Amino acid sequence: MSETSPKLRAELEGIPTYKPGKPAAAGGPVAYKLSSNENPYPPLPGVMETVTAAASSFNRYPDMACTGLMNELAERFGVPVGHLATGTGSVGVAQQLIQATAGPGDEVIYAWRSFEAYPIITRISGATPVQVPLTDGEVHDLDAMAAAITDRTRLIFVCNPNNPTGTVVRREELERFLDRVPQDVLVVLDEAYREFIRDPEVPDGVEIYRNRPNVCVLRTFSKAYGLAGLRVGFAIAHEPVAAALRKTAVPFGVSQLAQEAAIASLRAEDALIGRVGSLVGERTRVVDALRAQGWTVPETQANFVWLRLGERTVDFAEACERAGVVVRPFAGEGVRVTVGEDEANDIFLKAAEAFRTQL
Ligand code: PMP
Repeated sequence: MSETSPKLRAELEGIPTYKPGKPAAAGGPVAYKLSSNENPYPPLPGVMETVTAAASSFNRYPDMACTGLMNELAERFGVPVGHLATGTGSVGVAQQLIQATAGPGDEVIYAWRSFEAYPIITRISGATPVQVPLTDGEVHDLDAMAAAITDRTRLIFVCNPNNPTGTVVRREELERFLDRVPQDVLVVLDEAYREFIRDPEVPDGVEIYRNRPNVCVLRTFSKAYGLAGLRVGFAIAHEPVAAALRKTAVPFGVSQLAQEAAIASLRAEDALIGRVGSLVGERTRVVDALRAQGWTVPETQANFVWLRLGERTVDFAEACERAGVVVRPFAGEGVRVTVGEDEANDIFLKAAEAFRTQL
């Protein structure tokens, strides 16, 4: 057999493969997964029944236009159906956004550290990532992001709340920033954790997009709605952008099971949002306890907390794992820990306290 392999695009060499949060090890004494910002609650029985019923026809392709889901979303958000696009998780929609706007020679701006997929999907498109460091307070530096705009800029991500820090951009600063962005540059408000926000100064992206044709709101069913495994996300944007997203979508990328589950979840919103309320309560408990232990914890409006640990990051993550919770280390930087089941949070807090006393 020849040693020659097919020619691949040279750019791919330097691009890392997306690394998912580590799963909880099987067979250990206790093992809770706090590494992927998932919803710890099991599916609602009604949603399970809907998915089970939909499973009887998975020999057929799904409704590619996601008609039922689009109608439901249009009503829920008070937007025209033509302003919606769906995708394989919101990461799929983010990739559609880049494919619709940027290619070789173009630039995509985002804060760093932020969602790990941004650099990967930007580089896959051939565009150049422009990473603007967060401030010392771990928040978006919108002035620096505005200053980074050039005539090659095509897309800007504002992750609100930011993954992995949980920090937010507030109304006034966001509006001021948007006033500085040229109208032909698309700004994506990535609101994957929107439902966990309690700070009234954080604007709802859907309200912002209404008056701004260059703003696109990105949402997901993976977090508050608990459908991470089914892969469905969506965007709300004005017609030309939404139409471009429907073009760049992978055909049939959202399964019928996912579509039906998303519709059932929207109809069961009260129960799901109640669960979010409990998680927000746990978030307050976790943050308060960590601060009482002496940790510096940035104000988080998401379902996770961020500890900047620098060189001790990996040690800390290993200590948590030995205690029975798997967290998400970003080596040399810090650890992101999802707010999970009450008992998982207890284990994490104990491990954090033990680690702290050794410092
Ligand atoms: N945006 C942000 C900020 C995220 O943290 C995530 C998931 N970690 C996503 C988008 C993608 O989520 P999904 O593809 O499951 O919708």
